[in-house]
Amino acid sequence: MSMRTRVVLLGPPGAGKGTQADRLAARLGVPHVSTGELFRHHVSTQTPLGREADTYMRRGDLVPDAVTLSMVADRLADADAARGAVFDGFPRTVAQATALDQQLAERGHPLDGAVLLEVPEDVLVLRLTGRRFCAECQATYHLEWSPPAIADRCDRCGGPLRRRADDDEATVTRRLAVYRAETFPLVAFYEKSGRLWRVDGLGSVDQVAARLEGVLASD
Ligand code: AMP
Repeated sequence: MSMRTRVVLLGPPGAGKGTQADRLAARLGVPHVSTGELFRHHVSTQTPLGREADTYMRRGDLVPDAVTLSMVADRLADADAARGAVFDGFPRTVAQATALDQQLAERGHPLDGAVLLEVPEDVLVLRLTGRRFCAECQATYHLEWSPPAIADRCDRCGGPLRRRADDDEATVTRRLAVYRAETFPLVAFYEKSGRLWRVDGLGSVDQVAARLEGVLASD
């Protein structure tokens, strides 16, 4: 069975895009391209791009399209992206989606489509405010649903657990509003061109992964 290898994971913050994109990319043998992760890397290494992005990210606002698009264009020029990519957290505006279509068309490999991970809003808030990650190895936890054995310590490497700077309740509320206003229109954008699959994002990581693989099997 062959699988589609150029896909966008679409959905609100907390839908599970990062977790699923990681697994899916490994399964497909293509890179996981997360603009949020790329920005956080720039922020932590204090590049000029990171300093610019940080002011938007702290507020829960989108980084301007021009900044985001040039960062993605650089990433797609890397050799490992030639076979495909699982995009996570990108595109987030119709302008970004249009630019992605154009960039991939120029490379001769159009986007297969977008998967919308559907999760009710009350669940999103609980997922985001409770999530933690290991500052050393990036393993992820949830205070209620997958807590570490020892409080604030990573089970895998013993590193300290942190909360993302934008996972506090006020910023989460803002991020969800930005999603509705700026990113939700992408559902119609991809649906119009027959490139949208809807997947129920509730349940275990394995259950959601199986649903995703189901819609991405191409024949
Ligand atoms: P994420 O890790 O996808 O939740 O992204 C974290 C933050 O990075 C977002 O709240 C935005 O401030 C910024 N960001 C990530 N991806 C994009 C994007 N495609 N366009 C604009 N801003 C983005």
